[in-house]
Amino acid sequence: MGEPRFETDGILAGIRRWVERETPTDAPQAVDALMDLVAADYAAAGLLVERVPGLDGFGGHLIARSPWGRDAPQVLLLSHLDTVHPIGFIERLPFKVEGDVAYGPGIYDMKAGAYIAFHALCELARAGRTTPCGITHLIVSDEEVGSPTSRALIEAEGARAKAVLVTEPAREGGRIVTARKGVGRFELKITGQPAHSGARHQDGRSALKELARQILILEGMTDYDRGITVNVGVAHGGTRENVVAEEAWAGIDLRVPSPPVADEMVARILALTPHEDGVTVTVTGGMNRPPYVKDERITALFEHAKGLAAEIGFELKDLMTGGGSDGNFTAALAPTLDGLGVDGKGGHTHYEQIYVSSIVPRARLLCRLMETVG
Ligand SMILES: [Zn+2]
Repeated sequence: MGEPRFETDGILAGIRRWVERETPTDAPQAVDALMDLVAADYAAAGLLVERVPGLDGFGGHLIARSPWGRDAPQVLLLSHLDTVHPIGFIERLPFKVEGDVAYGPGIYDMKAGAYIAFHALCELARAGRTTPCGITHLIVSDEEVGSPTSRALIEAEGARAKAVLVTEPAREGGRIVTARKGVGRFELKITGQPAHSGARHQDGRSALKELARQILILEGMTDYDRGITVNVGVAHGGTRENVVAEEAWAGIDLRVPSPPVADEMVARILALTPHEDGVTVTVTGGMNRPPYVKDERITALFEHAKGLAAEIGFELKDLMTGGGSDGNFTAALAPTLDGLGVDGKGGHTHYEQIYVSSIVPRARLLCRLMETVG
Protein backbone atom coordinates (compact mmCIF):
# COMPACT_ATOMS: atom_id res chain seq x y z
CA MET A 1 0.00 0.00 0.00
CA GLY A 2 1.24 3.46 -0.85
CA GLU A 3 0.86 6.73 0.95
CA PRO A 4 -1.69 9.37 -0.06
CA ARG A 5 0.23 12.32 -1.52
CA PHE A 6 -0.53 15.93 -0.69
CA GLU A 7 1.57 18.45 -2.61
CA THR A 8 0.51 22.06 -2.78
CA ASP A 9 1.49 22.72 -6.41
CA GLY A 10 -0.30 19.68 -7.80
CA ILE A 11 -3.47 20.36 -5.80
CA LEU A 12 -3.46 24.04 -6.74
CA ALA A 13 -3.14 23.13 -10.43
CA GLY A 14 -6.21 20.92 -10.03
CA ILE A 15 -8.15 23.70 -8.30
CA ARG A 16 -7.21 26.00 -11.17
CA ARG A 17 -8.67 23.57 -13.74
CA TRP A 18 -11.98 23.61 -11.86
CA VAL A 19 -11.99 27.38 -11.31
CA GLU A 20 -11.27 28.18 -14.95
CA ARG A 21 -14.41 26.28 -15.97
CA GLU A 22 -17.05 28.78 -14.89
CA THR A 23 -20.19 27.25 -13.39
CA PRO A 24 -22.99 29.69 -12.57
CA THR A 25 -25.97 27.86 -11.10
CA ASP A 26 -28.16 29.08 -13.98
CA ALA A 27 -25.86 27.77 -16.73
CA PRO A 28 -26.60 24.04 -16.59
CA GLN A 29 -24.47 23.13 -19.62
CA ALA A 30 -21.45 24.82 -18.10
CA VAL A 31 -22.00 23.06 -14.76
CA ASP A 32 -22.42 19.73 -16.54
CA ALA A 33 -19.21 20.28 -18.48
CA LEU A 34 -17.24 20.51 -15.23
CA MET A 35 -19.17 17.53 -13.82
CA ASP A 36 -18.03 15.57 -16.92
CA LEU A 37 -14.41 16.36 -16.11
CA VAL A 38 -14.80 15.39 -12.45
CA ALA A 39 -16.62 12.18 -13.37
CA ALA A 40 -13.87 11.18 -15.82
CA ASP A 41 -11.12 11.90 -13.30
CA TYR A 42 -12.94 10.05 -10.54
CA ALA A 43 -13.50 7.04 -12.80
CA ALA A 44 -9.82 7.07 -13.81
CA ALA A 45 -8.89 6.93 -10.11
CA GLY A 46 -11.04 3.84 -9.65
CA LEU A 47 -14.15 5.36 -8.07
CA LEU A 48 -17.64 4.26 -9.09
CA VAL A 49 -19.45 7.23 -10.61
CA GLU A 50 -23.19 7.83 -10.92
CA ARG A 51 -24.73 10.83 -12.70
CA VAL A 52 -28.11 12.28 -11.86
CA PRO A 53 -29.45 14.27 -14.84
CA GLY A 54 -30.37 17.92 -14.37
CA LEU A 55 -33.94 19.09 -13.87
CA ASP A 56 -35.82 22.39 -14.09
CA GLY A 57 -32.99 24.32 -15.76
CA PHE A 58 -30.26 23.16 -13.39
CA GLY A 59 -27.22 21.01 -14.09
CA GLY A 60 -26.97 17.40 -12.98
CA HIS A 61 -25.47 15.97 -9.81
CA LEU A 62 -22.62 13.52 -9.41
CA ILE A 63 -22.10 10.71 -6.90
CA ALA A 64 -18.70 9.01 -6.61
CA ARG A 65 -18.49 5.92 -4.42
CA SER A 66 -15.42 4.13 -3.12
CA PRO A 67 -15.06 0.60 -4.50
CA TRP A 68 -14.54 -0.59 -0.92
CA GLY A 69 -17.17 -0.56 1.83
CA ARG A 70 -20.16 -0.68 -0.50
CA ASP A 71 -22.27 -2.47 2.10
CA ALA A 72 -20.71 -0.68 5.09
CA PRO A 73 -22.00 2.59 6.54
CA GLN A 74 -20.85 5.60 4.51
CA VAL A 75 -18.93 8.75 5.24
CA LEU A 76 -20.64 11.32 3.02
CA LEU A 77 -18.54 14.10 1.51
CA LEU A 78 -20.90 16.87 0.42
CA SER A 79 -19.92 19.57 -2.07
CA HIS A 80 -21.38 21.88 -4.70
CA LEU A 81 -19.78 22.99 -7.95
CA ASP A 82 -22.13 25.84 -8.84
CA THR A 83 -21.08 29.41 -8.08
CA VAL A 84 -22.87 32.76 -7.87
CA HIS A 85 -20.62 34.33 -10.52
CA PRO A 86 -21.92 34.81 -14.08
CA ILE A 87 -20.07 33.49 -17.15
CA GLY A 88 -17.29 35.92 -18.02
CA PHE A 89 -16.63 36.98 -14.42
CA ILE A 90 -13.26 35.28 -14.77
CA GLU A 91 -12.19 38.25 -16.93
CA ARG A 92 -12.63 40.44 -13.86
CA LEU A 93 -11.19 37.89 -11.42
CA PRO A 94 -8.75 35.68 -13.34
CA PHE A 95 -7.09 32.79 -11.54
CA LYS A 96 -3.82 34.11 -10.13
CA VAL A 97 -1.51 33.45 -7.22
CA GLU A 98 0.10 36.28 -5.26
CA GLY A 99 2.18 35.14 -2.32
CA ASP A 100 -0.06 32.92 -0.17
CA VAL A 101 -3.27 34.01 -1.89
CA ALA A 102 -4.95 32.38 -4.90
CA TYR A 103 -7.85 34.21 -6.56
CA GLY A 104 -10.66 33.10 -8.83
CA PRO A 105 -14.45 32.98 -9.19
CA GLY A 106 -15.85 30.42 -6.77
CA ILE A 107 -12.39 29.38 -5.59
CA TYR A 108 -13.34 29.87 -1.93
CA ASP A 109 -17.05 28.98 -2.21
CA MET A 110 -16.34 26.20 -2.83
CA LYS A 111 -14.25 24.81 -5.67
CA ALA A 112 -11.09 24.52 -3.57
CA GLY A 113 -13.00 22.69 -0.82
CA ALA A 114 -14.69 20.32 -3.26
CA TYR A 115 -11.35 19.74 -4.94
CA ILE A 116 -9.41 18.80 -1.79
CA ALA A 117 -12.12 16.24 -0.92
CA PHE A 118 -11.87 14.85 -4.47
CA HIS A 119 -8.07 14.79 -4.23
CA ALA A 120 -8.03 13.06 -0.84
CA LEU A 121 -10.48 10.38 -1.99
CA CYS A 122 -8.57 9.79 -5.24
CA GLU A 123 -5.33 9.49 -3.26
CA LEU A 124 -6.84 6.92 -0.90
CA ALA A 125 -8.00 4.90 -3.90
CA ARG A 126 -4.67 5.20 -5.75
CA ALA A 127 -2.73 4.22 -2.62
CA GLY A 128 -4.86 1.12 -2.29
CA ARG A 129 -6.13 2.16 1.14
CA THR A 130 -9.48 1.19 2.50
CA THR A 131 -11.36 2.93 5.29
CA PRO A 132 -13.70 1.64 8.03
CA CYS A 133 -16.71 3.15 6.27
CA GLY A 134 -17.33 3.36 2.55
CA ILE A 135 -16.89 6.87 1.14
CA THR A 136 -19.54 8.63 -0.94
CA HIS A 137 -18.87 12.04 -2.50
CA LEU A 138 -22.05 13.82 -3.54
CA ILE A 139 -21.46 16.91 -5.68
CA VAL A 140 -24.52 19.02 -6.47
CA SER A 141 -25.22 21.74 -9.01
CA ASP A 142 -27.76 24.03 -7.31
CA GLU A 143 -26.64 24.84 -3.74
CA GLU A 144 -26.36 28.57 -4.33
CA VAL A 145 -30.10 28.84 -4.93
CA GLY A 146 -31.14 26.59 -2.03
CA SER A 147 -30.65 23.13 -3.61
CA PRO A 148 -34.16 22.74 -5.04
CA THR A 149 -33.27 19.74 -7.22
CA SER A 150 -30.67 18.11 -4.96
CA ARG A 151 -32.28 18.32 -1.54
CA ALA A 152 -33.99 14.90 -1.75
CA LEU A 153 -30.73 13.28 -2.84
CA ILE A 154 -28.77 15.00 -0.06
CA GLU A 155 -31.29 13.84 2.53
CA ALA A 156 -31.36 10.27 1.18
CA GLU A 157 -27.54 9.99 1.29
CA GLY A 158 -27.39 11.83 4.64
CA ALA A 159 -29.93 9.49 6.22
CA ARG A 160 -27.70 6.47 5.65
CA ALA A 161 -24.40 8.18 6.48
CA LYS A 162 -22.31 7.58 9.58
CA ALA A 163 -20.99 11.14 9.28
CA VAL A 164 -21.29 14.02 6.81
CA LEU A 165 -18.32 16.22 5.89
CA VAL A 166 -19.32 19.40 4.05
CA THR A 167 -16.60 21.18 2.09
CA GLU A 168 -17.95 24.73 2.38
CA PRO A 169 -15.14 27.22 3.03
CA ALA A 170 -13.39 27.61 6.37
CA ARG A 171 -13.67 31.02 7.97
CA GLU A 172 -12.19 33.40 10.52
CA GLY A 173 -8.80 31.79 10.85
CA GLY A 174 -9.71 28.34 9.58
CA ARG A 175 -12.69 27.67 11.82
CA ILE A 176 -15.04 24.93 10.74
CA VAL A 177 -18.79 25.17 11.13
CA THR A 178 -20.68 23.03 13.65
CA ALA A 179 -23.95 24.95 13.70
CA ARG A 180 -25.88 27.05 11.23
CA LYS A 181 -29.02 29.04 11.61
CA GLY A 182 -32.13 27.84 9.87
CA VAL A 183 -33.32 29.93 6.93
CA GLY A 184 -36.91 30.88 6.20
CA ARG A 185 -38.26 32.73 3.16
CA PHE A 186 -41.58 34.55 2.94
CA GLU A 187 -43.56 36.72 0.56
CA LEU A 188 -45.84 39.43 1.84
CA LYS A 189 -48.61 40.63 -0.51
CA ILE A 190 -50.76 43.61 0.37
CA THR A 191 -53.86 44.76 -1.45
CA GLY A 192 -55.46 48.13 -0.68
CA GLN A 193 -58.01 50.33 -2.45
CA PRO A 194 -56.84 52.60 -5.27
CA ALA A 195 -58.04 56.19 -5.46
CA HIS A 196 -57.17 59.53 -7.08
CA SER A 197 -54.66 61.12 -4.74
CA GLY A 198 -56.14 64.60 -5.23
CA ALA A 199 -59.87 64.16 -5.77
CA ARG A 200 -60.71 61.06 -3.68
CA HIS A 201 -57.75 60.49 -1.35
CA GLN A 202 -60.07 59.63 1.56
CA ASP A 203 -61.55 56.70 -0.41
CA GLY A 204 -58.17 55.05 -0.89
CA ARG A 205 -56.50 52.48 1.32
CA SER A 206 -52.78 52.59 0.65
CA ALA A 207 -51.05 49.25 0.29
CA LEU A 208 -47.73 51.10 0.63
CA LYS A 209 -48.73 52.69 3.95
CA GLU A 210 -49.66 49.22 5.19
CA LEU A 211 -46.38 47.83 3.85
CA ALA A 212 -44.43 50.48 5.74
CA ARG A 213 -46.09 49.43 8.98
CA GLN A 214 -45.56 45.73 8.28
CA ILE A 215 -41.88 46.28 7.49
CA LEU A 216 -41.38 47.93 10.88
CA ILE A 217 -43.20 45.06 12.60
CA LEU A 218 -41.15 42.44 10.75
CA GLU A 219 -37.81 44.14 11.32
CA GLY A 220 -38.83 44.61 14.94
CA MET A 221 -38.96 40.82 15.33
CA THR A 222 -35.14 40.77 15.04
CA ASP A 223 -33.66 39.78 18.41
CA TYR A 224 -29.88 39.50 18.37
CA ASP A 225 -29.78 38.12 21.92
CA ARG A 226 -31.89 35.16 20.82
CA GLY A 227 -30.09 34.79 17.50
CA ILE A 228 -33.14 35.80 15.45
CA THR A 229 -33.00 38.08 12.42
CA VAL A 230 -35.87 39.12 10.17
CA ASN A 231 -34.73 41.02 7.09
CA VAL A 232 -37.10 42.64 4.61
CA GLY A 233 -34.62 42.56 1.76
CA VAL A 234 -36.88 43.47 -1.16
CA ALA A 235 -40.02 45.57 -1.42
CA HIS A 236 -42.01 47.31 -4.09
CA GLY A 237 -45.46 48.67 -4.66
CA GLY A 238 -47.67 51.35 -6.19
CA THR A 239 -47.93 52.61 -9.74
CA ARG A 240 -47.89 56.46 -9.81
CA GLU A 241 -47.31 59.32 -7.40
CA ASN A 242 -50.91 60.49 -7.88
CA VAL A 243 -52.57 57.13 -7.20
CA VAL A 244 -53.20 55.68 -3.74
CA ALA A 245 -51.25 52.42 -4.00
CA GLU A 246 -53.42 49.38 -4.60
CA GLU A 247 -50.69 46.76 -4.29
CA ALA A 248 -47.41 46.26 -2.48
CA TRP A 249 -45.05 43.35 -1.98
CA ALA A 250 -42.08 42.41 0.16
CA GLY A 251 -39.61 39.51 0.28
CA ILE A 252 -38.47 38.42 3.74
CA ASP A 253 -35.52 36.38 5.02
CA LEU A 254 -35.68 34.79 8.49
CA ARG A 255 -32.73 33.27 10.39
CA VAL A 256 -33.28 31.21 13.56
CA PRO A 257 -30.99 29.16 15.81
CA SER A 258 -33.20 26.19 16.71
CA PRO A 259 -36.32 24.27 15.65
CA PRO A 260 -38.57 25.63 18.46
CA VAL A 261 -37.60 29.20 17.56
CA ALA A 262 -38.25 28.38 13.91
CA ASP A 263 -41.79 27.23 14.78
CA GLU A 264 -42.41 30.33 16.89
CA MET A 265 -41.15 32.77 14.25
CA VAL A 266 -42.87 31.12 11.29
CA ALA A 267 -46.17 31.30 13.21
CA ARG A 268 -45.62 34.99 14.04
CA ILE A 269 -44.79 35.94 10.47
CA LEU A 270 -47.70 33.99 8.96
CA ALA A 271 -50.08 35.64 11.47
CA LEU A 272 -49.51 39.23 10.30
CA THR A 273 -52.80 41.14 10.00
CA PRO A 274 -53.74 44.47 8.40
CA HIS A 275 -54.11 47.71 10.36
CA GLU A 276 -57.25 49.02 8.67
CA ASP A 277 -60.41 47.85 6.97
CA GLY A 278 -60.25 47.51 3.22
CA VAL A 279 -56.67 46.21 3.22
CA THR A 280 -55.68 42.58 2.92
CA VAL A 281 -52.36 41.11 3.98
CA THR A 282 -51.31 37.69 2.69
CA VAL A 283 -48.14 35.99 3.82
CA THR A 284 -46.80 32.81 2.23
CA GLY A 285 -43.61 30.86 2.81
CA GLY A 286 -41.87 28.97 5.56
CA MET A 287 -38.56 27.39 6.46
CA ASN A 288 -36.28 26.62 3.53
CA ARG A 289 -33.32 25.15 5.44
CA PRO A 290 -33.87 23.81 8.97
CA PRO A 291 -31.54 24.90 11.79
CA TYR A 292 -28.29 22.92 12.09
CA VAL A 293 -27.85 22.43 15.83
CA LYS A 294 -24.60 21.34 17.50
CA ASP A 295 -25.85 18.29 19.39
CA GLU A 296 -23.79 15.73 21.36
CA ARG A 297 -23.02 13.65 18.24
CA ILE A 298 -21.72 16.69 16.37
CA THR A 299 -19.72 17.76 19.43
CA ALA A 300 -18.10 14.31 19.60
CA LEU A 301 -17.24 14.34 15.89
CA PHE A 302 -15.78 17.84 16.23
CA GLU A 303 -13.59 16.72 19.16
CA HIS A 304 -12.38 13.81 17.03
CA ALA A 305 -11.54 16.17 14.15
CA LYS A 306 -9.77 18.50 16.56
CA GLY A 307 -7.51 15.64 17.69
CA LEU A 308 -6.69 14.75 14.07
CA ALA A 309 -5.88 18.39 13.26
CA ALA A 310 -3.52 18.53 16.24
CA GLU A 311 -1.68 15.45 14.87
CA ILE A 312 -1.40 17.19 11.48
CA GLY A 313 -0.12 20.32 13.21
CA PHE A 314 -2.87 22.87 13.50
CA GLU A 315 -5.47 23.91 16.03
CA LEU A 316 -9.03 23.36 14.87
CA LYS A 317 -11.74 25.68 16.18
CA ASP A 318 -15.40 25.90 15.33
CA LEU A 319 -18.20 28.44 15.15
CA MET A 320 -21.88 28.93 14.45
CA THR A 321 -22.84 30.95 11.39
CA GLY A 322 -26.02 32.58 10.20
CA GLY A 323 -25.42 31.41 6.63
CA GLY A 324 -27.19 28.29 5.40
CA SER A 325 -25.69 25.39 3.45
CA ASP A 326 -26.54 21.83 2.48
CA GLY A 327 -25.22 20.90 5.94
CA ASN A 328 -28.55 22.21 7.26
CA PHE A 329 -30.27 19.31 5.51
CA THR A 330 -28.03 16.58 6.95
CA ALA A 331 -27.31 17.76 10.51
CA ALA A 332 -30.47 16.22 11.93
CA LEU A 333 -29.86 12.96 10.01
CA ALA A 334 -26.17 12.29 10.72
CA PRO A 335 -23.37 14.05 12.63
CA THR A 336 -22.27 16.82 10.27
CA LEU A 337 -19.14 18.95 10.18
CA ASP A 338 -19.18 21.86 7.75
CA GLY A 339 -16.65 24.48 6.68
CA LEU A 340 -14.04 21.76 6.08
CA GLY A 341 -12.98 23.43 2.83
CA VAL A 342 -10.02 25.72 2.31
CA ASP A 343 -9.46 28.91 4.33
CA GLY A 344 -9.73 32.28 2.65
CA LYS A 345 -12.23 35.09 2.27
CA GLY A 346 -14.45 37.06 -0.07
CA GLY A 347 -17.05 34.42 -0.96
CA HIS A 348 -19.45 35.73 -3.66
CA THR A 349 -17.27 38.83 -4.29
CA HIS A 350 -14.82 40.17 -6.88
CA TYR A 351 -11.91 39.49 -4.49
CA GLU A 352 -12.76 35.85 -3.69
CA GLN A 353 -9.57 34.11 -2.53
CA ILE A 354 -8.04 31.16 -0.70
CA TYR A 355 -4.92 30.90 1.44
CA VAL A 356 -2.57 28.51 -0.34
CA SER A 357 -0.87 27.41 2.88
CA SER A 358 -4.17 26.05 4.18
CA ILE A 359 -4.69 23.67 1.24
CA VAL A 360 -2.55 20.72 2.35
CA PRO A 361 -3.46 20.71 6.07
CA ARG A 362 -7.16 20.84 5.21
CA ALA A 363 -6.84 18.11 2.57
CA ARG A 364 -4.99 15.94 5.10
CA LEU A 365 -7.70 16.54 7.69
CA LEU A 366 -10.40 15.36 5.27
CA CYS A 367 -8.29 12.31 4.46
CA ARG A 368 -7.75 11.47 8.15
CA LEU A 369 -11.46 11.88 8.87
CA MET A 370 -12.23 9.40 6.08
CA GLU A 371 -9.60 7.02 7.46
CA THR A 372 -10.82 7.16 11.07
CA VAL A 373 -14.60 7.61 11.16
CA GLY A 374 -16.25 4.25 11.53
ZN1 LIG B 1 -20.95 27.24 -0.87
